Amino acid sequence: MLKSLATLILKKGEDRRIRTGHPWIYSNEIDTSATPLKNFSPGEEVIVLNHHQTALGRAYINPHSLIAARLFTRDTNQCLNIDFIKQRLLTALSLRTRLFSKPFYRLVFGESDGLPGLVIDRFQHDYVIQTNTAGMEQKQSDLLTALLASIPEISSILLRNDSPIRKHEKLENYIKALYGRPPEIIQLEENGISFSAPIFQGQKTGWFYDQRFNRARLKDYVNQQEVLDVFSYLGGFGIHAACFGATKVDCLDSSPIACDLITRNARQNHVEKKIRVIGDDAFDAMKRLLASNIQYGVVIVDPPAFVKKQADRKEGLIAYQRLNELAIKLLAKDGILISCSCSMHISLIDFIHVLQRVAYRTQTEIQILERGHQGPDHPIHLVIPETDYLKALFLRKLK
Ligand code: SAH
Repeated sequence: MLKSLATLILKKGEDRRIRTGHPWIYSNEIDTSATPLKNFSPGEEVIVLNHHQTALGRAYINPHSLIAARLFTRDTNQCLNIDFIKQRLLTALSLRTRLFSKPFYRLVFGESDGLPGLVIDRFQHDYVIQTNTAGMEQKQSDLLTALLASIPEISSILLRNDSPIRKHEKLENYIKALYGRPPEIIQLEENGISFSAPIFQGQKTGWFYDQRFNRARLKDYVNQQEVLDVFSYLGGFGIHAACFGATKVDCLDSSPIACDLITRNARQNHVEKKIRVIGDDAFDAMKRLLASNIQYGVVIVDPPAFVKKQADRKEGLIAYQRLNELAIKLLAKDGILISCSCSMHISLIDFIHVLQRVAYRTQTEIQILERGHQGPDHPIHLVIPETDYLKALFLRKLK
């Protein structure tokens, strides 16, 4: 069995991280004189061996990627087949059904759920999938069979394979149905509130389930308050605030599609009278609001990742600082700022440092009340820090 499958041999000492449970093998860790990368085709399955020829597990490989191989099992006899995918799906499903009473959640979060390169969001009977690696891309038909066998009543599956990370694997971008006829707009429910989300045209998979618990936490802060929701997307935070008793909510986003859906989501929750949609650049609009002396009781800032790679770090940290300075200035005394960062390259400590500089530069005193993170349908892999990405600081401006 071992002989029939290609082997990938690591350089001396490069198995240490793998032995602690990390599933990624970087191209510079491979003994390319023993196992040249050009001998492998993208997506091919391999047995990974250390320098002493001891088997470490089974991986799929992509010679084009910096992360050249991803282990999917430590069992060298186990291939990435329908049964294996099914087992991993059922394990992921059992966590979500335990956590949530309604079928709206991230069902699979890649490596954290033991299925490297795969993301699945569930919207009741409709599913949105990303296969972000060559290895997973080639398993689409097995994945479909495994999904249909594991979960009853699947209506449709959309492949949202247009993530920028695909270019690292030299994969083409496309969006298409894998099964059934996915609707343009799907309905979902979160914390008892209903939303419409555009799964073909929206951001990422159409909805950001990772913020669910942080949105729920708004309840204690927004009653009788005027609220500003910056980078609102479909009104995730803003509609929650309106439903939780805010008197007035301004939702700000530069995307016209997102703005249309904020209006629709406000109507379907009967809070349209409280919601004002501002379609503009966040920085420009916040400066304008500031110039007209508007102040809010609660401001939420949930921007797209400003630091997408290490090289963007310095510039990204400055952007977070500028954004949070504007947000603090727009807050009334005793106001609450919910400040988020989904950049995996920025740690919680880095983010707190940004807020420290903001407090100094705006001459305010700021308290941290709560530290939120991604919900448990986005589990953190114990040894992959990149899977621990979302920070949501609940802050109070004292003066
Ligand atoms: N807060 C949202 C998620 C935000 S996603 C939620 O709870 O679901 C980031 C959003 O920022 C996207 O909707 C995108 O359209 C918007 N965006 C990106 N750059 C922007 C800019 N410069 N000004 C305003 N909005 C921007």
